Amino acid sequence: MTRNLPATCDVAVIGGGMAGMATAARLQARGMSTVVVEGHTTPGGCAGFYRRKGFSFDVGATTLVDFAPGGVGAELLVSVGLPPVEGEALPGYLAWLPDRVVTLHRDLEAWHRERLRAFGDSPAHRAFWAFLDRLALTFWEASRAGIRLPLRGLRDVVHDLHALGPSNLLLARHLGSTLGDALRRFGLRHDLPLVGLLSMLAEDTVHNVVDRAPLIAWAAAPSASTAAPATSGSRPRAAPSAPRRW
Ligand SMILES: Cc1cc2nc3c(=O)[nH]c(=O)nc-3n(C[C@H](O)[C@H](O)[C@H](O)COP(=O)(O)OP(=O)(O)OC[C@H]3O[C@@H](n4cnc5c(N)ncnc54)[C@H](O)[C@@H]3O)c2cc1C
Repeated sequence: MTRNLPATCDVAVIGGGMAGMATAARLQARGMSTVVVEGHTTPGGCAGFYRRKGFSFDVGATTLVDFAPGGVGAELLVSVGLPPVEGEALPGYLAWLPDRVVTLHRDLEAWHRERLRAFGDSPAHRAFWAFLDRLALTFWEASRAGIRLPLRGLRDVVHDLHALGPSNLLLARHLGSTLGDALRRFGLRHDLPLVGLLSMLAEDTVHNVVDRAPLIAWAAAPSASTAAPATSGSRPRAAPSAPRRW
């Protein structure tokens, strides 16, 4: 894009994605003039869109979160002098399934209760959630310790075993498993509501269907709600299909 290039400016920002646009907006709010140089035909990057035959399509991001007071989004708006987003504060991610609404609470205890209420309090369900929680906690901690995935050689294997720690080494056997494998392991692959929720989250986090979603990557994703112990401090998310809310 080469529209409206000024002769001079204080700061040139390379890239008109979310980061570049937010940076330029922050700089302008501090009185600096900016130019954003974007290599693509439209701004937005991974949060952009394109038009075909009168319709517009998101290329990636569809959900903006954390616009409650004190949140990341709210802070950006305040810092660039924009009004707050109108909306209703939600207790967490709302998943609208065909026959039920499930709240993926930010509060860990509330989420533990909600998932048993919504999907069943059987021994299989409890064991499944406990398994996912353990994976999530372990691999979230390991990712903080610099775990390298996918494995690209012996050096990565040694590094990752060290990052996992001796007490969690057995969990490494799930590195090749999918979310579908985990459901099958607990006899829950045909539990339609549960699979429905997990499918939506898998699409949202690792962009794949449950039978192809890598279990570890999914469990350790910051926004995978089942990664309950790992989600503290991570971004809460709103259901993409929900009306304007945060
Ligand atoms: C499928 C998908 C779904 C997602 N869903 C969500 C979601 O729902 N919610 C959410 O919060 N996040 C989501 N994300 C993540 C989010 O879209 C990205 O984290 C975010 O948009 C990244 O912004 P960025 O500015 O850092 O990088 P980018 O969006 O990659 O922007 C970089 C820009 O720089 C330009 N550029 C690069 N090099 C040059 C150069 N040399 N000269 C000029 N221009 C250059 C590129 O063309 C691009 O426009 C999703 C991502 C994907 C891919």
